[in-house]
Order: sequence, then structure tokens, then C-alpha cells
Amino acid sequence: MKTLISEEQVREGVTRMAFEINQTYANRPLTIVGVLTGSVVLLADMIRQLTMPLRVGVVQASSYRGATSRGPLVINSDLMPDIANHDVLMVDDIFDTGHTMAELIQLMEKLGPTSVRTAVLLRKSGQQEVTIQPDFIGFDIPNEFVVGYGLDYQDEYRNLPFVGALEDEDLQRHASRTKRNHDSC
Ligand code: 5GP
Ligand code: MG
Repeated sequence: MKTLISEEQVREGVTRMAFEINQTYANRPLTIVGVLTGSVVLLADMIRQLTMPLRVGVVQASSYRGATSRGPLVINSDLMPDIANHDVLMVDDIFDTGHTMAELIQLMEKLGPTSVRTAVLLRKSGQQEVTIQPDFIGFDIPNEFVVGYGLDYQDEYRNLPFVGALEDEDLQRHASRTKRNHDSC
């Protein structure tokens, strides 16, 4: 695996984003909505650097089903806090085509928030298929499939403290393991 953003760089990026968010909202109460599961690491690190009165909730959105290409988006908002008349900041791991964020913003807007903004650790350059852009961005990255710091491949690697790009040999290792699992069933 190739390191794309080191642990120290990630830390600096998260601190910079938290600073910008603190400046934007000053002391206004804020409701953070983390997009499960990829945002959990960023969420934990970032909220501890936010200084306004804060509520934290989550929403689940998944479009990747074990592969590296997009499937249909499934949203589960059962765990979402009440956001009517609240300033909302949605937090996700990565902004790729942008469809996930665009659909989530549409869903939030229907619930009567005062405002909805978005923060992502990563934005993939040149991949966007929607007109919205995140309000707070940690890093712009090239169009590579990345893992670590919350991002997974087949549910692995979320615990890596850095962001890495999978290489062919990583993918081959996964492919042979999947085959072994099938063989032993
Ligand atoms: P979008 O809807 O913007 O195309 O995709 C957003 C979601 O796709 C992210 O929340 C993330 O779960 C997943 N995703 C997009 N690119 C990557 C990637 O390079 N690595 C991983 N692990 N997930 C990705
Ligand atoms: Mg995600």
C-alpha cells in the first residue's frame, strides 16, 4: 500500500478544518451529522477541536457493496437527531462523485434546518457529477481508491491512522482470500 497522506498530515488537515468550522459558526450551537461508517474516525478527532455548543448524530449511507465501484445509495436516517431550526454540519470521509452528499442534503433540507453545510476529509479531483461542493475540505486527492482513517475496502483498513492507496498486490491478496473463504464454505 502506498501512503497518500501521512498520519501527521491528516492531523494537520483535521486541525485546519476544525479551525475554519470554529470561525464560521463562532459560538452558535451546531448539530453535527456524521455519515456512517466512513466518517467515524474524522468525527471523533474533529469534534474534540470544536468549541461551540455541539450535538452529534449520525446517518447511514452506503453505496459501495464490497467493490470499488458505486452501487445504488441506501440511506438509513433512523438515528438522526431532530434538525428542525438547527444549524447542521454533515461530515463524511470522502467526496467522490458527490451523489451521496447531494442526496443527503436534499433529505436534510426537507426537515427544516436553519442551514446545512458539509465537511469532508477528502475530495477526489475531477470526479464530481453534481453542482454542490463541500464547504470544508481536508485534502484534494487524485482519482485513486483510498483506505484508512475511516475508509474501508471490504470492511478492512478503517483503523489505519493514515490515508493510503491500494495497489494491485493488495487487491490480489483480497481476491485470493475471498476465493479461499468460498472454497472452505
Ligand atoms: P460519492 O457518492 O461522492 O461518489 O461517494 C461517496 C462515498 O463513496 C463515500 O462516503 C465513501 O464511502 C465511498 N468512496 C468514494 N471513493 C472512495 C475511495 O476511494 N475509497 C473508499 N474506501 N470509499 C470511497
Ligand atoms: Mg461513506
